[in-house]
Amino acid sequence: MISSTAAPYGYRYDPKSSLLVIDEEEAKVVRLVFYLYAQERLSLIKLVDRLNRLSIPKPSNGRRWHISFVAGMLGNETYTGTLWQNRWHREMVVDKPGQRPKRRIYERPKEEQISTAVPAIIPEETFNVVRRRLAENKRWAGRNTKREYLLSGLLKHACGSAMGARTSHGTPYYYCLKSNHFKAPIDERGEPQPCPGTWVSGRAVEAAVWDTVTGLLRHPDLLLQELERLTQPDSTTREALEEELTQVRKRLEKLPKEERRLVEGYRKGLYADFMMREEMDRVRSEQTSAEERRRELERQLAHLDKALSYQGQVEALAERLTQGLGAMDFQQRRELLRLLVDEAVYNDGQVTIKTVIPFGSSADEVQLRPVPQGGQGDGRKGFSTPC
Ligand SMILES: [Zn+2]
Repeated sequence: MISSTAAPYGYRYDPKSSLLVIDEEEAKVVRLVFYLYAQERLSLIKLVDRLNRLSIPKPSNGRRWHISFVAGMLGNETYTGTLWQNRWHREMVVDKPGQRPKRRIYERPKEEQISTAVPAIIPEETFNVVRRRLAENKRWAGRNTKREYLLSGLLKHACGSAMGARTSHGTPYYYCLKSNHFKAPIDERGEPQPCPGTWVSGRAVEAAVWDTVTGLLRHPDLLLQELERLTQPDSTTREALEEELTQVRKRLEKLPKEERRLVEGYRKGLYADFMMREEMDRVRSEQTSAEERRRELERQLAHLDKALSYQGQVEALAERLTQGLGAMDFQQRRELLRLLVDEAVYNDGQVTIKTVIPFGSSADEVQLRPVPQGGQGDGRKGFSTPC
């Protein structure tokens, strides 16, 4: 006895015989779906996309094909010739007293289910291939519940904080970590001061960084030339930087002594008030600029080290570049950015990209790229915590 509502997509319930019969039109689609998944190895997303683009009428008057429906179809044993009835158990459960009851559905043990033979649409072997692939994907999804983002660890907000990434309603976003109420710095009154930075569309900012960096790579010769110059044993760049850094550090050591001498001399009445103030200001401003210069030199040297340590990879990369950037998968793209980008700073619709290797005449070329505003990803002010 088959329930008249038991017919899955691909079958019709025949009231005369009380049996399921194949609906030829729908069965064709079922075969196509299994074929695309098992043989062409399309992902579920691409498979659904293909069905929608082919304008195959969706069952039960829906407007579009959906992943959940197609996934259910691929896992439905009925297509191999066995219809399982009494399969699902539904009940209303109350988790906590006072809460609204929730509907729970679980599969009954096989021995409680009732099997009925129906005409098969899909051969057992194909079904098993599909089942293995679905199980594989599920394992994979479980391992990678944390989505990976192209700019993770590379993107900073103008306020100095790193930017995190997450997906909301299927759209990726980057957001300042300090915009999160719980991670925001605390002011003297103990109040969290979240960064008012808005969320930025992941696609826009990723495209801006990717296009800029790959734009620089349009001449891989230039990249290799630069690298060669940097790694030449007779390269004077490094020596010059190191020499200057030594001088700056020495100067920085001397400045506090100068300050002490000034204070000492003032106490002994050697200087007038105004002279003392002037001299102090001079020492302090020299200190500030020397510290700045030291940081800058250290940064440039760190760049050089990074460039050197990446040399082997960059050569491999250059080889890969000849095969075209379009052929790179996500991991390779991320590797490439990691290799070449020191950091990318997002500031109010613009992203500044600092590359590891100088791509121009200046030592550290800065690329400015506007990130398109508008659309879903921008202007979501008022989000102090990611939803
Ligand atoms: Zn911020």
